[in-house]
Amino acid sequence: MKKKGILERLKEGPVLGDGGYLLELEKRGWVRAGPFTPEVALMYPEALRELHVEFREAGSEVLQALTFYASRDKLATVGLENRLEELNRAAVRIAREVAGDRCLVAGNLSLTWMYEPGSQSAADRVRKTFDEQLAVQVDEGIDFVIGETFSWLGEALIAVERGKKTGLPVMVTVCFENKDETAEGKSAEETAKALIDAGADIVGMNCLRPPQHMLPSMEKMRKAVSGFLACQPVAFRTPKEKPDFTSLPEFPVALDPLQLTRKEMGDYATQAQQIGINYIGACCGTAAAHIREMARALGKLPEDSRIWNRGGEKPMSAYEYYGHDQFETAKKG
Ligand code: ZN
Repeated sequence: MKKKGILERLKEGPVLGDGGYLLELEKRGWVRAGPFTPEVALMYPEALRELHVEFREAGSEVLQALTFYASRDKLATVGLENRLEELNRAAVRIAREVAGDRCLVAGNLSLTWMYEPGSQSAADRVRKTFDEQLAVQVDEGIDFVIGETFSWLGEALIAVERGKKTGLPVMVTVCFENKDETAEGKSAEETAKALIDAGADIVGMNCLRPPQHMLPSMEKMRKAVSGFLACQPVAFRTPKEKPDFTSLPEFPVALDPLQLTRKEMGDYATQAQQIGINYIGACCGTAAAHIREMARALGKLPEDSRIWNRGGEKPMSAYEYYGHDQFETAKKG
């Protein structure tokens, strides 16, 4: 049976995405902090497979192939430019194996660091970079294309253009650094409109900022366009005057105490749904535990059907002893 496509699913209601791969795999020892390149797909495929399984079991309806930064120029910085095809192939294949018929698999393009505003030759180089990755990802059977983490609207528009050539649905999201605008100074409203006008099926924001500093811009996008919107914030607490977590001195190896709780990410999913976001996912710092609470908040987590006889003569767990279950009942009220 053919899987229901992303656009069909979005028409039916919110779709739950997955979390952040590179930072989580870095924490586990499989990715190098600094370059953050994704050769884990070749070097330690089991580690990547395991993280996909965790997101799937937590309720993610889409698994993104870990091809973020799997572009020629970026891989060249770690001497792996000749393994581009192999790497993109392996990443999509692993995601597809784990997805089975339960999740969709998104191919993935990311910022190239090659874009320069107003430069035709830089734009052509970005085009070539995207096409090279897409050819392999499409060949391996991705369900749709995600282009993400673009500070430059200009680069995001090239991702829409190249993504559309595949004939698959295209989702492209930008990121705002420490100012509430793209690198060329475009507002949330202008950005959403430009991406939709270029033909993107789903537009929005991802990475760099936590929900608190991303949702206000998403609300502006919601008012500006009527198409599908995606939101994938990071799960790190950042100050208002420096909302981009990668600009903090804690990046990358002292972020642990800044990580948001599962409950905070669950609350984020509820808020995103309330403001009319269609694709609700997350980015760096978001592990499977966060996704599970987001799934619960969106009503996508099945009730646990295992036996638990509580309320007996004696409390048989700290949960009962301190009355947390009563608190829970009162809350549901
Ligand atoms: Zn991220």
